Amino acid sequence: MADSNQQLKALCDEYAAQLPEKIKAVDLTWLAFKENKGHEELTLELIRKTHNLVGSGATFGFARLSEHAAEIETLLRQFRQNELTLQTTIDKIEPLLISLKHSALSSQQDSPTNDLDFSSPTVSTVQQGLKNTLLISSNQAFAAALAVKLKAYNIKLDVLTSPAELPSLQDEHLCILLDLNTENNQTIEAAFLTRVNPLAPDQPHLIILSDQDNMLARLSAIRLGGSAFFTHPINMVELIKTVREKCFEKAEPVYRVLIVDDDVQFSEHTALLLERAGIRTRVINDPMDLIEPLAVFQPDLILLDLHMPSCSGIELAAVIRQQCLYSGTSIVFFSVETDIDRHIDALRAGGNDFFIKGITPTQLIAKVEAKALQARELQTLMLNDPLTGLANRTNLSNTLSTLIASCHRHQRHFTYVMLDLDHFKQVNDQFGHHAGDEVLRALGLLIQQRLRSVDTAIRYGGEEIVILLPDTHTSEASIVIGELLQVFQELVFNANQQSFSVSFSAGIAEYPLFSDYLSLAEAADKALYKAKKGGRGRICLA
Ligand code: GH3
Ligand code: MG
Ligand code: MG
Repeated sequence: MADSNQQLKALCDEYAAQLPEKIKAVDLTWLAFKENKGHEELTLELIRKTHNLVGSGATFGFARLSEHAAEIETLLRQFRQNELTLQTTIDKIEPLLISLKHSALSSQQDSPTNDLDFSSPTVSTVQQGLKNTLLISSNQAFAAALAVKLKAYNIKLDVLTSPAELPSLQDEHLCILLDLNTENNQTIEAAFLTRVNPLAPDQPHLIILSDQDNMLARLSAIRLGGSAFFTHPINMVELIKTVREKCFEKAEPVYRVLIVDDDVQFSEHTALLLERAGIRTRVINDPMDLIEPLAVFQPDLILLDLHMPSCSGIELAAVIRQQCLYSGTSIVFFSVETDIDRHIDALRAGGNDFFIKGITPTQLIAKVEAKALQARELQTLMLNDPLTGLANRTNLSNTLSTLIASCHRHQRHFTYVMLDLDHFKQVNDQFGHHAGDEVLRALGLLIQQRLRSVDTAIRYGGEEIVILLPDTHTSEASIVIGELLQVFQELVFNANQQSFSVSFSAGIAEYPLFSDYLSLAEAADKALYKAKKGGRGRICLA
């Protein structure tokens, strides 16, 4: 962190040192402009130079300089549109230029460079240990059923029958489930609030379980500090998924932002600000270099300058939008342009938003995070299967060819697992499609929980799932998948007042023994067929 502070300060100092030179350039152009009676090319050059000062001045802490430059730029544009005579333009700009020079040459920057504290990190680094989940419910049967379900997913549940039993410190639990499935909800809510302050920092996540789904119930859940809301009868798999997301997974996603701006200093400054907030960045100063970093870096958001020499930001946005691969990527223009018509053009070219240069770092970070989150959610919707939460088939061939190329280059191996539920048609026929869906949902969650972050699971077809395990031999894969089968077979589902369990069969093939997509898929399929023939509920190797 200290490093990035120093870098930021160094960038600001560098800018301050270069300012006299920049002002001198403006001054010289101004003299030429007057001598040549407002020649068109000189007008344009002056507009470009003052325009540059508007954005960079605000960014590097010269707010007044930025304001003066903006006024000069506006007057020049009015002159260019014949809204002002040459003499009026000169009369108005002269005093502004003096103020501009004054605000630039005074060695002290006229406003704090940042609204962020240089000394304190902006990323919270709360350590999340493996703590238990707490249920507060007077319904003992429900508590017992939930404890059993959670155990299959390695989540331990403590139970209290009333908030009155809560200790004053909730250090032990990362997540509290408060069950409001009773007559005296108001008493329970009041008792809860006397012990837990929803506004205090580092509170455990609160999930409200309610017997009512209406505006009043949802609102009081928010007022209690609840971050999720479930109604009885509870969808257990969804609840477990939420508990896992809230407590055991990295809460803060790391966003990737690509900055495209011909101003080297400005783009570096923006990158540093975002990096300080825990956002990963890449900078491109020549828009013609866009294609490769876009494919390799896979940004959630692209911050795009509007005015660049080799091509405009609007043209660049159109090029990005030509490729459907990036339709989930957020494009945000970042420019000093305040002309609303230009904003509209930019949005029509496929931009998602327009940020004005000179916004404070805190605003920038908050806006970038909000747009990146939106893009992530859209990408999740596009690339994930909503039922199982696993990836859908869209990316299978991409993922697989990337994996094969990387393993080929580094002489590594991986396994390709083809998994298929046993007699699933019978499950649907006997217990209904809804129960079948529940089984798929539970399997998806179990797979996500058991796999490493480098592994990929893809819903291949209806009840078929492909799993890719890098750096794993078939022997190791069969142990991992065997354990998965064991836990899955033990899950008990309920429908039509009956309980049932389901198994799966799997076939495993290894790269480079099978060296391309087709032969891997075929080999795993054959092995799966062998497993089915051999009695199902088993795993066969190709
Ligand atoms: P086998 O053990 O040989 O694989 O038998 P099976 O019944 O599982 O195989 P089959 O391919 O005959 O049937 C697959 C069934 O999976 C049929 C289809 O209705 C069901 N299925 C596919 N997708 C879904 C889904 O999203 N939800 C539900 N509930 N069922 C699905
Ligand atoms: Mg099947
Ligand atoms: Mg099948």
